[in-house]
Amino acid sequence: MQTFIYNALPGRIVFGAGRSLEVASELERLGANRALVLCSEAQADAAQTVAISLGTLCAGVCSEAVMHTPVVKTEHVLELVKKLEVDCLIALGGGSAIGLSKALALRTGLPQIAIPTTYAGSEVTAVLGETADGVKRTQRSLEVLPEVVIYDVEQTLQLPASMSAASGMNALAHAAEALYSQDANPLVSQLATQAIEALASSLPTIVRQPHDRQARSQAQYGAWLAGTCLGVVGMSLHHKLCHVLGGTFDLPHAETHAAMLPHAMAYNAEAAPQAMAVIATALQTHNAPFGLFELVKNLNLPLSLKQLGMQESDLPLALELTMRDAYWSPRPLEKNALHTLLHNAYHGLAPFTP
Ligand code: NAD
Repeated sequence: MQTFIYNALPGRIVFGAGRSLEVASELERLGANRALVLCSEAQADAAQTVAISLGTLCAGVCSEAVMHTPVVKTEHVLELVKKLEVDCLIALGGGSAIGLSKALALRTGLPQIAIPTTYAGSEVTAVLGETADGVKRTQRSLEVLPEVVIYDVEQTLQLPASMSAASGMNALAHAAEALYSQDANPLVSQLATQAIEALASSLPTIVRQPHDRQARSQAQYGAWLAGTCLGVVGMSLHHKLCHVLGGTFDLPHAETHAAMLPHAMAYNAEAAPQAMAVIATALQTHNAPFGLFELVKNLNLPLSLKQLGMQESDLPLALELTMRDAYWSPRPLEKNALHTLLHNAYHGLAPFTP
């Protein structure tokens, strides 16, 4: 007989093409009328369009969001929030814009509306990672969870094919690790399975035809489910490896997830056979790690850490940091096996299964 604990997170999800045009009514629902729209520099035009649709409900646009949510940046934008007497934050963008919004919400208690434009999944988690003095620290608080998320496929159409593929693999990694999480449960496993199916079937189409709305919508659906998994169960070896590689060696977030996922899955393959069977079925293959390796290849994503800019001389430190404060893993961490894993990932070799 199964036993499990399921902790649900609150949140209102508005899903559908064109629905970011409804942001004004969502704002009114929250009782707010002075919103600040947050985005990265590259999406200033899209944010301006949202601001125009808000009319007098918009207090301003701030296009200063950057990767890894530096505390100095947050404190700078906080001054603007106070000056403009903002009563709601609207984040338009990927994990960086949403990270800035979460960091501001933590300091002000303001409500948030997130309009995600990548597949990273941060909009449905109560997790915030912030960087200070070159170190990225993560915390969990319901204060940072956006009250409303609007998934509008139209907002994703301009995400370049390669970024879409990498971001989609980032989402797929949340779902894959949820299947063998220490606190896995039947509901989350259903979400994870559907997420993997939706992402694996849509990403190749998006790479070929980046404006295919049907595939984009399916990927966004998968990203929502995968993000929900990330929000409610603990992650494992794969996420630890990516935090080390991104946090300490500054490798690009989504691409690192894509390159590492087949290797992390291979490491845990024998210890998590049920999860592997689900992943293999969702990928329509017989072997989950190799199926993922093929998928990353077919999406034209970098397979090796070397291509992502890592130095081979940094591998011993990466190994040491992965073993330190280790996340729970179905297969206990073994130094020699992890050395092989990192070596294979560095050179872009096929994943090693014992
Ligand atoms: P990102 O938000 O940094 O976006 C990358 C670039 O793509 C930016 O310049 C952005 O403006 C641009 N962009 C995004 N969407 C676009 C679109 N539709 N069209 C054109 N350009 C677009 O990248 P990301 O991968 O979404 O986020 C990475 C960050 O999110 C990392 O800091 C990571 O740690 C964090 N993250 C946090 C969580 C969490 O739960 N806290 C989860 C996942 C990721």
